[in-house]
Amino acid sequence: MSDVSLETIVSLAKRRGFVFQASEIYGGLGGFYDYGPLGVELVNNLKQEWWKAMVREHDNIFGVDGAIIQNPKLWEASGHVAGFTDPLVEDTVTHKRYRADHLAGVDSNDLEELTRLLKDKKSPDGNPLGPVRTFNMMMKTFIGPVEDTESIAYLRPETAGSIFTNYENVRETMRAKLPFGIAQIGKAFRNEISPRDFIFRVRELEQMEMQYFIRPETQEKTYEEWREFAWKFLVERLGIDEENLQWHEHDENERAHYAAAAHDIYFKYPQGFKELWGTHNRTDYDLGAHMKVSGKDLQYFDDATRERFTPYVIESSVGVGRMLMAVLVDAYHEEEVNGEKRVVLKLKPSLAPYRVAVSPLLKNKPELVAKAHEVYATLKKEFGNVMWDDNGNIGKRYRRQDEIGTPYCVVIDFDTLEGDTKDTVTVRNRDTTEQKRVAIDQLIKELN
Ligand code: ATP
Repeated sequence: MSDVSLETIVSLAKRRGFVFQASEIYGGLGGFYDYGPLGVELVNNLKQEWWKAMVREHDNIFGVDGAIIQNPKLWEASGHVAGFTDPLVEDTVTHKRYRADHLAGVDSNDLEELTRLLKDKKSPDGNPLGPVRTFNMMMKTFIGPVEDTESIAYLRPETAGSIFTNYENVRETMRAKLPFGIAQIGKAFRNEISPRDFIFRVRELEQMEMQYFIRPETQEKTYEEWREFAWKFLVERLGIDEENLQWHEHDENERAHYAAAAHDIYFKYPQGFKELWGTHNRTDYDLGAHMKVSGKDLQYFDDATRERFTPYVIESSVGVGRMLMAVLVDAYHEEEVNGEKRVVLKLKPSLAPYRVAVSPLLKNKPELVAKAHEVYATLKKEFGNVMWDDNGNIGKRYRRQDEIGTPYCVVIDFDTLEGDTKDTVTVRNRDTTEQKRVAIDQLIKELN
């Protein structure tokens, strides 16, 4: 279990090409980040793993990819236009705005409670605070050539919206029977009052969400199953240490406007245990609200029991950025090897941006380089994410690969070219630092 600081993670992420500030050359933009060459590989691997576990491994879960901008009526029906708010408080001198619940140090949206708790508090700059009010986090834009109230549209604050509006389309096209789920990965936008803690709280985020449509009487059991799914996914599929995870149950003041029950998995981020993955019981709130506002019948007819009812929904929702940050923090290790500090990301091979790096021992020996290129081409064809690395000496290359989490380094040396060891290479293991000789024709098996 690692106790790495936020600065260390931010610096590694920047230095090694995982995460950059958005528009960095213009001074950045608060709450927006770009993924670099290694970050995008890691993100894609995380998304692929989730999609596999959620969609490919369940016969009754189907994927969709909805538009970011939907008819604004969707967000009125869902309650987001009226209720997707955070409590805000302003420094009366600097006019800097803060999350009232963060300043009060509680997980609450209750204005009266927050007003009471902040009564004698000052802002972080030592000035008096104004009244606690609500602030809507929906990001607005305009559709078409005229910018007036008629043309206002919202960037979606969560991906769930278009899952509900496609409930009937998916049910019908896939001939789905309850229980079944709809999953989606995509961007969402929240005008967070104070984005902070690197990619933990941002204004443009990516979510992986799945809504599971069920008969109401199965809600407790199904809710438990999806809680367990999330925990197991983090531990077994991402390799996260259970010591870095804990459950947090929402109380009434913390729950979103649609939820009857909510359990988050908290991860031990450098800034403390914080929300990573939510499981929510949304009851029949969403389908009910969309039926009312759209006038369309979204009820389910059960052939077997001849009943007609509105399905309940259990939601599983996790942020890609928070997952990436959790994986980086969990995998980060500092060790001492031969009196020197070694930084190593112990990422699962299935997640690592590069599975293997291939090097000629010396880059000015054409016969080594030619053989190394041959090996590189074979591995590249098999794995795809293979790095050619001939910079600096071998020790430096190992350190560099350790720091980006490459599980194996393959080195082609003079023994590869002749003698008893002809056509064998050195394979160096990231976690144990052990090296062994492997025949080239056994390499793919060895690295799998
Ligand atoms: P928080 O309480 O931290 O603001 P939330 O309870 O509003 O989060 P949900 O609406 O349940 O979050 O969103 C589902 C998931 O989306 C969260 O568990 C988190 O992983 C991710 N997420 C939510 N808001 C952000 C954000 N501003 N930046 C990055 N990820 C986010």
